[in-house]
Amino acid sequence: MRNEPLIVAATSDFAGQVRGKAFPAVELDKRLKRGIGWTPTNVQITCFDLIAESPFGALGDLVLIPDPATLVKVDYDDGCPAEQFVFGDILDMAGDPWQCCTRSILKAALKRLEDASGLSLKGAFEHEFHFCDRDAPSAGAYTAAGFRAEREFGETLFSVAANAGLKPDTFMKEYGPDQYEVTIGPSMGLAVADQASILRELVRITADRLGQRTSFTPLRNPDGVGNGVHIHMSLRDGNGKPATYDANGPHQLSRTAGQFVAGILKYLDRIVAITAPSVVSYTRLTPHRWSAAYNNLGYRDREASVRICPVSDISDIKAAEQFNFEYRAADAAASPYLALAAIVHAGVQGIEEGLACPEATHEDLSLLPEQELEARGFLRLPQTLESALDRFADDDTVTGWFPDGFAQIYRLHKLGEIEFLKDKTEIDTCAAYEAAY
Ligand code: GLU
Ligand code: MG
Repeated sequence: MRNEPLIVAATSDFAGQVRGKAFPAVELDKRLKRGIGWTPTNVQITCFDLIAESPFGALGDLVLIPDPATLVKVDYDDGCPAEQFVFGDILDMAGDPWQCCTRSILKAALKRLEDASGLSLKGAFEHEFHFCDRDAPSAGAYTAAGFRAEREFGETLFSVAANAGLKPDTFMKEYGPDQYEVTIGPSMGLAVADQASILRELVRITADRLGQRTSFTPLRNPDGVGNGVHIHMSLRDGNGKPATYDANGPHQLSRTAGQFVAGILKYLDRIVAITAPSVVSYTRLTPHRWSAAYNNLGYRDREASVRICPVSDISDIKAAEQFNFEYRAADAAASPYLALAAIVHAGVQGIEEGLACPEATHEDLSLLPEQELEARGFLRLPQTLESALDRFADDDTVTGWFPDGFAQIYRLHKLGEIEFLKDKTEIDTCAAYEAAY
């Protein structure tokens, strides 16, 4: 059959969904200049495909300009057309970033980091997801048999990911039933979120091509294991040199990295509405799920919101090069752009306020009495999406990091999502998110 190759120009939106329009590949040059038309109210389409209250109604026009740095063309050599997509920025008709463009919001956050400290961000997203529709779990946690059960998927994914310019790193059978984890190597700045968005699409496309279905939902069932997104970060100076490590600093963090981490933890309860933005996210963010329940720094502790990752003395890579910390209170209901923007803003706020590096915890905070938690400055993270949204919306410092109007529109979006679920049981809520992500 004959076909005209099309490229999807896409955005990763408030719902963490990839939406866009396709255009003929032969018109790429034109589209890089002119973009494709976009509609403001699209941003209020929730993950359940219903439109939340929109301040825009049927009015207005925008343009989505593809960024060729994100152009992906992957051919599966299976007789079907190559997959082509490209992410871009949503601009108003005058060419200025639109207030709800997630990618432009991240660009502004990275610029603030650069202006405040002269530093740039290096990082990578680590993703967990599961295969759906299995009659029985295929293999045990971390097993080689678990890898072999999805060898074809893993090897296909790594091949297309490498072709798309990513650095596939590890693939493994995670702890949950049919749950897998995939990691990719780090990149710089905006590309960190671009690559996370590309990776998620490639997981979905690869599964489709192999007749499988996957989900990145934060929580598959109320008692089950969560699918986390762990965001690894480090800072680089103007010469591209590592700026996170100080052998003599507290927990080996440099002064600026300590301030950055302190900012994340200080504002954590007010940014989880953005980094873990589904109703089921808040069941995942509970103690003993290896996710994050308090605003604590952990030294190699997988229950901490920010965890200092290990550096190995036997590696051929210098400690300062390896050294990074990970943010664990995130999931794939969040657009990678928005999640990273919120974290970077909180970190820069910490630098600007000159915050002291937090003490790392070494114990199970859920066992400590409330007074002790309070005395040591630990907060239990919000336990529902509603309360997370309230904490976000009530803090002028935090909402002020984002463009005018963003906070109200984002909140309306999420309230629409909550409204859709209001009469559903926990099981049905989990099922709805499993289908959506
Ligand atoms: N599945 C856990 C989560 O929800 C993470 C497990 C791990 O440490 O990799 O974040
Ligand atoms: Mg994992």
